[in-house]
Amino acid sequence: MTFAIEARGLTKRYGDVWALRDCDLQLPANRIIALVGANGAGKSTLMSIVSGLLRATSGTLLLNDRPVVKGAAGTGDRVAILAQDKPLYRDFSVTDMLHFGRSTNRVWDQRRALSWLERFDVPLNRRCGKLSGGQRAQVALAVALGSRPDVLLLDEPLANLDPVARTEVTGELMAEAADTGMTVMLSTHIVAELSGVGDHLLLLDAGRPVLTGDVEELLESHLRLVGPRADL
Ligand code: ATP
Repeated sequence: MTFAIEARGLTKRYGDVWALRDCDLQLPANRIIALVGANGAGKSTLMSIVSGLLRATSGTLLLNDRPVVKGAAGTGDRVAILAQDKPLYRDFSVTDMLHFGRSTNRVWDQRRALSWLERFDVPLNRRCGKLSGGQRAQVALAVALGSRPDVLLLDEPLANLDPVARTEVTGELMAEAADTGMTVMLSTHIVAELSGVGDHLLLLDAGRPVLTGDVEELLESHLRLVGPRADL
């Protein structure tokens, strides 16, 4: 099996705080990886290190078999990260944001960015500051997808979306991943809807991976253990 993200002994300390502790990870390529954990479990830290924005204290990290070093995320790979506070210019129209995406990316797929916005009915000439939180999330996602990432890292992309939009977004992301070979890692607190959110689960607890595997298999074995009416 090909692993999109592989870590050995990955550790990140901020002074006395251990944000990640000795993590060994093998996360499959071309899947949607749901990254779950309580506040402070280390989700954002892991994504920042995978993106190359942050340097690990120790350990190794491979992205599609190539080492990741700070400032040069997966050299040769295209990695896009979308932080929790979506980086949009309030006075730019949606179309301006696409121009901005095009001007800051060597490889830009305008058709892919536009078709994402069309699917979610985002008005192209409205200023970003006048969009709803959910629409802003779609614009940020469209810009990220336009950069044609091999690995797309999304920090709580579903937080502003209603349940119907959440299902639509994750369904469309799965379709994008299947079409393009992209791997998506998304962090979420919405564990109850996990079966619709991702197809591989990574549960972090206090900086350590405590559960990882195929979401449907994990849910099935959970239901076998505790019965069909139980919630996760
Ligand atoms: P949340 O769900 O609340 O966003 P998270 O799972 O993303 O949390 P991180 O943001 O990765 O967790 O934080 C992991 C730990 O590292 C926490 O204890 C946090 O306080 C600490 N931490 C994160 N960034 C820093 C920093 N720049 N300096 C010091 N401590 C930090």
